Order: sequence, then C-alpha cells, then structure tokens
Amino acid sequence: MIELTQGELEKHFSKPIFKQISETADELGLECYVVGGYVRDIFLQRPSKDIDVVVVGSGIVMAEALGKRLGRGAHVSVFKNFGTAQVKYRDTEVEFVGARKESYQRDSRKPIVEDGTLEDDQNRRDFTINALAVCLNKERFGELVDPFGGMEDMKEKTIRTPLDPDVTFSDDPLRMMRCIRFATQLNFYIDDETFESLCRNKDRIGIISRERIADELNKIILSPIPSKGFVDLERSGLLALIFPELMALQGVETRNGRAHKDNFYHTLEVLDNISKKTDNLWLRWAALLHDIAKPVTKRWEPKAGWTFHNHNYVGEKMIPNIFRKMKLPMNEKMKYVQKLVGLHMRPIVIADDVVTDSAVRRLLFEAGDDIDDLMTLCEADITSKNLERKQRFLTNFQLVRQKLKDLEEKDRIRNFQPPVSGEEIMQVFGLQPCREVGSLKSSIKDAILDGIIPNEYEAAYRYMLEKAEKMGLKAVK
Ligand code: ATP
Repeated sequence: MIELTQGELEKHFSKPIFKQISETADELGLECYVVGGYVRDIFLQRPSKDIDVVVVGSGIVMAEALGKRLGRGAHVSVFKNFGTAQVKYRDTEVEFVGARKESYQRDSRKPIVEDGTLEDDQNRRDFTINALAVCLNKERFGELVDPFGGMEDMKEKTIRTPLDPDVTFSDDPLRMMRCIRFATQLNFYIDDETFESLCRNKDRIGIISRERIADELNKIILSPIPSKGFVDLERSGLLALIFPELMALQGVETRNGRAHKDNFYHTLEVLDNISKKTDNLWLRWAALLHDIAKPVTKRWEPKAGWTFHNHNYVGEKMIPNIFRKMKLPMNEKMKYVQKLVGLHMRPIVIADDVVTDSAVRRLLFEAGDDIDDLMTLCEADITSKNLERKQRFLTNFQLVRQKLKDLEEKDRIRNFQPPVSGEEIMQVFGLQPCREVGSLKSSIKDAILDGIIPNEYEAAYRYMLEKAEKMGLKAVK
C-alpha cells in the first residue's frame, strides 16, 4: 500500500470526468462520492476499473444530468429496477447509485432497500477496505471518508468487516466467499474475529447460487498464490460445503508403516506451481482436478503399497458432474480440462522410461494443440521433496519436450489426419462402411505413429494396399 498526501490523492481524480461530475452534483445540490474498489485500488496501486459513485439522493437524476452536460459523446443507461444508472464517456464507465440503507431477511440475500445517508451506505459495504469514499463536491473535493479504519487495515494487510461480522456474513453470505477471495487476491490476512465468524456462519452459504460461488472460486484460482484461498476455505469449513470432491483429497492413511501423500496439499502445490507459469483459468482448473479421482481409486496392495490405478481416466469421467454441479461451462473448456486430466500421467510414464520416438509421437497425436499445456501441467505436478528425483524428472521432461519439437518438425503429428481417408478406402475396395475400413485406417495411423512409414500420402497408400492384400481385399479401381 502507498501513503498519499492530500494533493497526491486529488491528482487521482484529475480526469476531466470527475470535474464534470463535481459540477453536476453541485448544480443539483447533491452530495456525491466515489466509493469502494476504485478508491481502495488507488492505495493498493492496482489497475483501476469501473468507477462507482454514490449520490446522497437519486443516482439516476444525477446520471441523466451528467449525460446532458457531457453532450453527444456520452451514453446513459438507466436501470430503474435497481435505482442505478451508468454513464459511458470515451473509455470511462461510471455507475451511479443513490446512497441506501439495507435490511435483510433470513432466507434471502436480497435486502429491503431504503434511501439513506453516506454513512448508511458505508455500513452496508462488505469490508473496511471496500467502504472508503472520496468526496467529489467542490468544497470538499478529494476528501477521504474512512469511518471504519480501512486505511489502517490496508496498512496492516487485513480484511475485516465494518460491522459485527456475524451480521455482515449472515445478511449476505456471498461476502464469506468475497472475504477469502480478497484475502487471496491481495495477499491479506483475515482478521481473527472475521475468520471465526466465517466458521460460525458457513452453513449460510447454502442460500447463495452456484454461479456466484463459481465466480468467486475462479477469482481465487486466478490469484497469484491460489492455495492460500483454498486453505482458508478448508479451515473455515466452507470447502466441504461447496467442493466436497476436493475436500475428499485431504488426509493421509498409513498401513504397515507406509503412508501415501496428502493429495489435498499436493494438489494445492501443483496449483501454485502452475500459477507461476500460466494465467489460463482452465489450465489452472486442470491442475486443481488432476488427482480428483485419487480417493475413489485408492487401493492397498500388499506388494505395491498404495495405488491409484487409472485415477487419471476416472478423474476425466468425474469432471462433467463436477462442472454441472458447480455451474461451470459444459463446453469446450470442460473438454479441455478433461483431456488434460486424462492425459496427465502420460508424459511421466514416458519420462520415467527410455523416451522412444513412438511414445512421443502417440502423445503428440493425442494431445494435439494442447501438448504444451499438458507438459506445463506435468512439470507442475513434480512436487517430490527428493531433489535428485525431482531433477531427474525435470531433465527427462526436457528430453520429451526436445523430442516433441524434433518429431513435430519432421512428422507434423499435431492435428494429425491420416493421409488416406476412410472415404478413399471405401472407394478403392468398393466397400460400404464396415469393420475392415476402420481396421485399415487405424493400421495406417499406427504405422505412422510407430515410425514404420512417413506421414505422407504415397507411402500410406502403398501400405494400405499391402495390408488389404493380407486381409484378402481386392482393389476395384
Ligand atoms: P472486484 O472488481 O475485484 O470484484 P470491487 O471491490 O470493485 O472488486 P465489486 O464487486 O465491483 O468489487 O463491488 C464494488 C463495491 O461494492 C465493493 O468495493 C463493495 O464496497 C461493494 N460490494 C460489492 N458486493 C458487495 C456485497 N456482496 N456486500 C457488500 N458490499 C458489496
């Protein structure tokens, strides 16, 4: 956080739009303040987003008057039902809302809303750092109004509710997710009383829609060190309610003195590792879900010890249900996560053995354009504390990456389509769609992937004729 003199703070409001708002407000005789995230982010030096303005009076009247003053370049949208209005002007968006007082009923996060003062409005904010306001009226331009010690909390890197946290969280339980999300995004501590209240109120999360929960989870996952959020979710008891499958990864079992690793903490380590390499939300999801089937596939085998056979394929199959329940998109993003989870053991198996061309070609064929992401996931998955072992894997992965590059240049396997199509096979041998066509097609594919023939039409055609002859098929043209 940075400290700012009054003059420096005012400079952040030097954009012409603020002057226009100020003059409009004075003309209408309305008090008006920039509030919330925009003010907070000035002190935290985060990129600024939309500007939220609270008007003690009607936000809509204010927005319409501002629209008139700005003239043709301005676009005003009014949302009567919400009592809000938005003004778009050049590259800036400003939301206007009347100061309000809220009261809640137990079964809904929809409050009963009345007109209120700035103080009422600040009382309904979720955290002290989100309740800061800066006055825009000329007389008090740039004056910071911080009734709950938000500045102090920013200095101390603390998330704290402005009122009794039991009231804040119970009124709108989404705030529990936001609490952990802000702590994770900003790398802040959650104040003790606030945290204890999370634990007491966790069951209230049940009235929040899955979509809203998923939005917050995604923001946690996209944070610099996402494990922090998941540890807080787990410690508060929220994780078991919103993501039981992840919770099930926790714990260590020992038999005959042999323990397996705690897959929850391993998963979080993999997620943190991958977050250093990518901002791709779905690749981060793949890291979070890569071992999701370990609890259901866990077996004790006296000779081998703990095993998790096929946990990658079982995990791949679990993903649609998880996405459906969590209201995550059931589209190509989900398929991408499934594919990576399904394939995540392959590079390790290859790297653990002699790295053959054929194995690498097959991997390239199956992963296609997602091969680089798959390698990133697999490298993040090496969390061994044995440095020698870790180094050996990383070196072998380098070898796999190099081979991938060489073979890709030579054989163009990524996005591979067999050079002789099923259609052509049917024409050459006068066949209807049948088992023989499929079998010929896949033997051509295998011959290319195993390096028996090059990935070229002529060679593939000749190979097809040889194979067909052995199968007793005769060319008709
Ligand atoms: P981000 O854009 O990263 O989510 P933000 O603080 O700008 O951060 P918004 O959701 O845009 O978050 O909300 C703007 C402001 O509205 C917040 O700073 C906060 O003052 C208030 N606010 C938003 N949601 C809630 C809520 N559920 N309960 C109380 N106050 C809220």
